[in-house]
Amino acid sequence: MLLIKRKADLVQWLDKQRSEGRSIGFVPTMGALHAGHISLIDISKKGTETTVCSIFVNPTQFNDPKDFQKYPITIENDILLLEQAGVDVLYLPEVPDIYPDGIKDLEKYDLGSLESLLEGAFRPGHFQGVCQVMRRLLEAVRPDQLFMGQKDYQQCMVVHRLLEIIGLPTRLVPCPIVREKDGLAMSSRNMRLSEDQRRTATTIHQALTRIKEGWQKGEKTDRLIKSATSLLEEKGFRVDYVSIADPMTLEPVQRSEVPAVALVAAFLGEIRLIDNMTL
Ligand code: AMP
Repeated sequence: MLLIKRKADLVQWLDKQRSEGRSIGFVPTMGALHAGHISLIDISKKGTETTVCSIFVNPTQFNDPKDFQKYPITIENDILLLEQAGVDVLYLPEVPDIYPDGIKDLEKYDLGSLESLLEGAFRPGHFQGVCQVMRRLLEAVRPDQLFMGQKDYQQCMVVHRLLEIIGLPTRLVPCPIVREKDGLAMSSRNMRLSEDQRRTATTIHQALTRIKEGWQKGEKTDRLIKSATSLLEEKGFRVDYVSIADPMTLEPVQRSEVPAVALVAAFLGEIRLIDNMTL
């Protein structure tokens, strides 16, 4: 695996790949890699000829400075995992390589209601930061296909919108959520959970499963949301939201006949976890 730290070197290397007719798959990450990330790499390797992975903890997408400072960094292990997974090139930039003009006064993207709903409402500025870094990464890599996890459901929608805004022909491929045996969605932030919190964390999956069962029986949306919220609160979570939403718009839905997605964001201590399930 090639390790490249500078954008100019990456662009040059990728131009050569393209000139040899190789299709390019891209998996952007913030490191602290786990099997969820590796699943994206496996899917990229099946669908494209050259797989690029990036590791960059993007300062502009953290609305909580403590979350940024405490974001887990396990770079040596990440490199081993990426080598085993057969990644062709790891792009590992420093902040000035991505933001040569600094991180103040950056352009704003019109994300419509995605910015005021759910994650948009609870993490102001977060998706603008995601767009800042994704635009820079996408313009450097110019991948044929971009592989992102459905674990970050709304983020996939935001990046889809960004691709439209910047007019790149890249195809976004949303990939399934990889879970631990007890149902907890894998996440780099899980490393920060205490043993007790880790046991409790599976309640999010239980709450989503309950919603799904109830939804399929035709139970009322409000009741499903209330009971999932109570279940989480009883276990000590501080709930940001439990929502049953239209999969295309993320606006709340009321009837159980339409397709829907249930989404949850909740804190255990200072660690914020998100998850979702199509119903
Ligand atoms: P992150 O490093 O958390 O920014 O995630 C990088 C990519 O991995 C994003 O596209 C995430 O949606 C995806 N990802 C994170 N966790 C999982 C998971 N449990 N299953 C599938 N994809 C995931």
